[in-house]
Amino acid sequence: MRKTKIIATLGPASDSPARLRELMRAGASVFRLNMSHAAPDWVRAVVPEIRAASSEVGCVAAVLMDLQGPSIRTGDLPEALELKVGDAFEFTLSGASAELPLSTSANYPGLAEDLSVDDIVLVDNGEIHLRVLATSPERVRCEVLTEGVMGSRRHINLPGIHVRLPGLTGKDRENVQLAAEVGVDFVALSFAREAEHVEELRRLIQAAGCGAQVVAKIEDQEAVRHLDEIISAADAVMVARGDLGIEVRIEELPIIQRRIVRKCIELRRRVIVATHMLESMVENPGPTRAEVTDVANAVYEEADAVMLSGETSVGAYPVACVEVLAKIAARNEVGGAGFAEGAKLRTHKQKTVRAAVALADSVPGCKLVVFTKRGILANLVSCLRPADAPVFAFTESDQVRRCLALSRSVTPFITTFGEDAEEAVERVFGSLKRAGLAQPGDPAVVLSDVFGGEFVQDSIHLRQIE
Ligand code: PEP
Repeated sequence: MRKTKIIATLGPASDSPARLRELMRAGASVFRLNMSHAAPDWVRAVVPEIRAASSEVGCVAAVLMDLQGPSIRTGDLPEALELKVGDAFEFTLSGASAELPLSTSANYPGLAEDLSVDDIVLVDNGEIHLRVLATSPERVRCEVLTEGVMGSRRHINLPGIHVRLPGLTGKDRENVQLAAEVGVDFVALSFAREAEHVEELRRLIQAAGCGAQVVAKIEDQEAVRHLDEIISAADAVMVARGDLGIEVRIEELPIIQRRIVRKCIELRRRVIVATHMLESMVENPGPTRAEVTDVANAVYEEADAVMLSGETSVGAYPVACVEVLAKIAARNEVGGAGFAEGAKLRTHKQKTVRAAVALADSVPGCKLVVFTKRGILANLVSCLRPADAPVFAFTESDQVRRCLALSRSVTPFITTFGEDAEEAVERVFGSLKRAGLAQPGDPAVVLSDVFGGEFVQDSIHLRQIE
C-alpha cells in the first residue's frame, strides 16, 4: 500500500465530474482550490462535485482551500514595459503619478517604508531583478539589473526583507466565510510569516463555524526564521517551493525543504512538499529524470504528501501526473530518513504508542488498527512513521476521516464505535477482511482513544485477525 498522499490542484483541466473520478482512481486524495485564481461560484460548484465523485468511486477525498494571502503585485499597465539592464524604473504608490517613462504602480503602500537603498526587488517569479536607488513616501526608484518584460499584476518578491503586510487580506477573510459555507477540510495560508498569522486564521475559521484544519505555507525567509513557532501553531505545513525558491538562494532550497520536513515530523505535524514536482508534464506525457528523483527525495524524507499545481489544474496530462506520482512513491517508500526517531514525545501515552508502532513493525504482515475520535491518535501513529505496518484508522466523523486523507500511511474509514470494545474490534477486522486489506490469521496491534483508553494505556499486545 502506498504511504505518501497526493494532492491535486483543480482547474479547467481537472474540474469535470469524470476527470475528478479519474484523479481519485489514480490515487489523489486531497483536492486543492487555489484562491489566487478561483472564483467563489466555481468553489460553490466544485466542492459538491468532489463529494459526489468520492462517493461514486468509494474513496476518501478532502478539500483544501489555499488562500491567496498578502501578495505584493504590480498594477495594471496599458502595455507591457521592456526593461533593459541599467534602465531607471519606478514603482508608484498610493495613486501617485509617474515621473519616469518606465513606471508601474504597486498594490502595497508600505513598499517604500519597508525597502532601503541597495535592497533587491524581484518581479514576475524572480525573472526581473531591480536594485533600489531611492525611496520616498510615494515612490520607489530602482535600477534594472536583469532585462525582462514587465507585465500587469506580476508578483513582487522582496527576499529577506521584513514586510509589514497583515497576515490575512480582506479577500482572505471573505474566502474563510466561503470555506465555512461549502465545508472545506483544510484552509492553507499563503505567506504565513509568524505564528500569530496562523492563530488568526484559526480564530477566523472557528468564528465562521467551520471545522477545517490549518495549513501554514512556508514561502519566505521570515517564515523560515520563525519555523518552529509556525509549525507548532499549524495542523500541517506546506513547503511552498514556488515562492520559497525565489525568496531564498536557490541552492538553499533542498536544505530548507529537508529542515522543514524533519521539524514537522519532530513536532508531530503533517507536511506537504509542493510545486514543480512534475512541471514538465504540464506539456509532456512523461516526467524528466530529475523530476522523478525530486519526487523520490520527498518520499525518502517521508513527507506526508506531495502536491501537483499547474500539472493538474491546467496541464495536458492531469491523470497521468497522479499515476506517475503514485508509482514513484510506491516504489521508493523503502528505508526513510529516520526523522521520526527525533519526534518529541512527552506523555506516557505517546511513548506507549511508539512502543505499539515498534511492535507492529517487528512482526511481518502486522496491521496497525486505530480507533480515533478526532484523528489525534491516528496522526500520532502516522508521525511515528511505521516502516512496514499499514495504519487503518476508524472514526465516527466524516470530517475527521477526510482530514486523515492527508496523513502518511493512514487509510481512514467510517465506523460506529458502540459501547463494547471487543465487538468494535471484531467488526472492523471483519470490514478489513471484506475489503481485501487483511486475511484471517494476520497479526494486528489495536490502539484506541475511544474505549476508556484501555488499548493504549494499559497494555500493548499482538492480536490475531480471526
Ligand atoms: C508555492 O509558492 O509553491 C505555492 C504552492 O503557492 P502558490 O501556488 O499559491 O504560489
